[in-house]
Amino acid sequence: MSFQGRYRGNPKPINTRYIGRVPSPDDPTRPAGPGASGGPRRPAGPGASGDSGGSARSAGDWSTRHSVLATARRTAALVNALAGDRPDPAGVAAVLRAHGEAEPLDLTGDDVTAMRAAADLLREVFAAEHADAAAVVLNRLLREHTGPLRLTSHGGTTPWHPHLDHDDNAPWDEWLLASSCMALTVLLWDDQLPPGGSCASPGCRNVFITRGSGPERRYCSRRCATRERVAAHRRSRAARSADGSR
Ligand SMILES: [Zn+2]
Repeated sequence: MSFQGRYRGNPKPINTRYIGRVPSPDDPTRPAGPGASGGPRRPAGPGASGDSGGSARSAGDWSTRHSVLATARRTAALVNALAGDRPDPAGVAAVLRAHGEAEPLDLTGDDVTAMRAAADLLREVFAAEHADAAAVVLNRLLREHTGPLRLTSHGGTTPWHPHLDHDDNAPWDEWLLASSCMALTVLLWDDQLPPGGSCASPGCRNVFITRGSGPERRYCSRRCATRERVAAHRRSRAARSADGSR
């Protein structure tokens, strides 16, 4: 299978930087419910099930990899990987690989520095607590950082899908910002809710994608949720015993 694009200024053909396989659910604290169904994120068409035949198109990444939800989850994973003062190019490449990017992933330090600036801009979307606020941020990013909407199939190697970067060879940071704005915009459109959130655990900077109308999600992971639940329990027990000792 070849999902190849071409990196700007790099003679080597590489990944399209659009694709991303459907990850395992990244929200263990909230079961997927009926609210997660419907909308344009559902893979459609032949090969969507990933096991309906032997062709490359049915290998599970022809359609599902290109879903809006897969792209949004990849955005959250990249924003998290790009946190910190000096994100490691190898670590960022590993996240891209885990989300279906093809080799070679020849990220340079400069690429990662630029991607980090894009990730910081995207964090503002995740920080928005209401759909209106998220829309204001997304509108600003769309106005200032993305090009016009266009369709590409990367020369017939992928399904037709929309892009907001200026062309298929856009640099990594432009690609990250444009593909993320696209996915987050469609999620907001579909749910009329902020497309994501930031972990409520103090000291954790992770962001996550929220879907549908379930209970509000507060933590990036089961680990953070458990840690905070235990801490709250200890606090209330300490308060009770302080009361009792008076
Ligand atoms: Zn967390």
